[in-house]
Amino acid sequence: MSELENNIAKAEGYIARFRKDGVLNHINGQAVPADDGTTFETISPVDLKPLAKVAHGKASDIDKAARAAQEAFKTWSKTDPTERKRILHAIADGIEARAEEIAFTECLDTGQALRFMSKAAIRSAANFRFFADKAVEARDGKSLYAPNQLNVTNRKPIGPVGIITPWNTPFMLSTWKIAPAIACGCTVVHKPAEFSPMTARLLIEIAEEAGLPAGVWNLVNGMGEDAGKALTEHPAIKAIGFVGEGRTGTHIMQQASTTLKRFHFELGGKNPVIVFPDANLERAADAAVFMIYSLNGERCTSSSRLLVHESIYDEFTAKVAQKAKRIKVGHPLDPDTTVGPLIHPVHEEKVKSYIALATEEGATIAAGGVKPDGLGDGCYVSPTLFTNANNQMRIAREEIFGPVLTAIPFKDDAEALAIANDSEYGLTGYIWTADVTRALQFSDALDAGMIWVNSENTRHLPAPFGGNKASGIGRDGGDWSFDFYMETKNIAFAMSEHRIPKLGG
Ligand code: NAD
Repeated sequence: MSELENNIAKAEGYIARFRKDGVLNHINGQAVPADDGTTFETISPVDLKPLAKVAHGKASDIDKAARAAQEAFKTWSKTDPTERKRILHAIADGIEARAEEIAFTECLDTGQALRFMSKAAIRSAANFRFFADKAVEARDGKSLYAPNQLNVTNRKPIGPVGIITPWNTPFMLSTWKIAPAIACGCTVVHKPAEFSPMTARLLIEIAEEAGLPAGVWNLVNGMGEDAGKALTEHPAIKAIGFVGEGRTGTHIMQQASTTLKRFHFELGGKNPVIVFPDANLERAADAAVFMIYSLNGERCTSSSRLLVHESIYDEFTAKVAQKAKRIKVGHPLDPDTTVGPLIHPVHEEKVKSYIALATEEGATIAAGGVKPDGLGDGCYVSPTLFTNANNQMRIAREEIFGPVLTAIPFKDDAEALAIANDSEYGLTGYIWTADVTRALQFSDALDAGMIWVNSENTRHLPAPFGGNKASGIGRDGGDWSFDFYMETKNIAFAMSEHRIPKLGG
């Protein structure tokens, strides 16, 4: 048996339970079907065949989950933080123990390559450990001195929160959102993406096996327009942590307006990587290739616009094209695969429409742009590079969310900055230069929430994560996550018998 066949057999073993019993919701500690008994089907992006039936939750399921979270909040918000810390570490242990099952299931459900998904499972455990350790300091505040007055601030968990996640790396993204919420004492209703529901089910099982009390974390599968909408409208839910498309974000804002919820939005990106001639070009090319072709390009922080100084444009784009052509596209469970199938035929069509558009707009397809042969019906698109592009083209302005890179030349720093900032998005930017002054000036002027200089995206968990403009609202990561999930209170103590204005005698 080849390693791929062996992995497929193992993955089938892991998902056999879902094929048999479906993917259930989880409310107040119980695995449950949807209230009305309906299901929807999740398909494999590898061959478009059905994987499992999924509970199709709607408003009544959300209502039950929100009420369970509201009830559990009474106790969980007051649970000793050292106990919360212990449980979060136990969840991390559980994730590590089932890392292979998580990775293999995620590969089949999303099409993401095993080489990245095995790391994503481990990284998810790290998210829990990081917030486990921070749980004990979540309520801490400041003391702010004024003449005759001492102000003391502290924080309290805001209440039950709704977490709505997308289909790209769903397991890792869910841990990133849910770990800080439960660490600081909030309770959660999670609505995963309908295209990739399986690993959310594994995660909640792991959490409860680790000792998380019933109702602290609830899971309702369903569509955005029913379960997702009901979650954003529910009066018991105090905040919505949402990761997804900007258009969905605007719907959520409207839906949640009558219940005055707090939002954290992580939305799309069209992130520039800017390469100056003084950079280490080999490292810059490796980083650019990694940031667009890893995770199938289905990554909000992907460097989807490659801005290269005109003096090195031809040489650099030729290097990137050569690397792109050498990337192995294949079955996500093949250990040699770098690019697997895109999540769903609907998304494949979207990505392919931009490949057709590139030629119409006058760009050149310097690599890829085709469905590789011999991989069957799956949603495969080869790593693609567009050259001879400019920033006015739609291929340079719209988020494609696939393994597709648009390369644009610039003549000087001012033009590079103007092109980089000429985007509705502002999530990340990547700057490649050996000149410290240029790096300082450029990073200061670049309109993006996160910038890496001479690096691909390497995440430091205490650092803030989030985007500017249409890329999001708010930040999470580190203490920023607690700020989102908690209310800050100020208490002012008079330090002397100061004069109080006397009104009415
Ligand atoms: P999407 O917005 O279509 O869906 C995301 C989630 O929102 C799903 O669970 C969906 O069911 C739900 N939803 C849809 N309509 C809703 C509604 N009216 N009310 C409530 N919930 C609703 O996004 P997607 O296609 O699943 O994910 C891809 C997008 O996510 C890309 O734009 C990508 O850039 C973005 N993303 C951003 C980040 C980031 O950190 N900035 C990270 C990952 C993905």
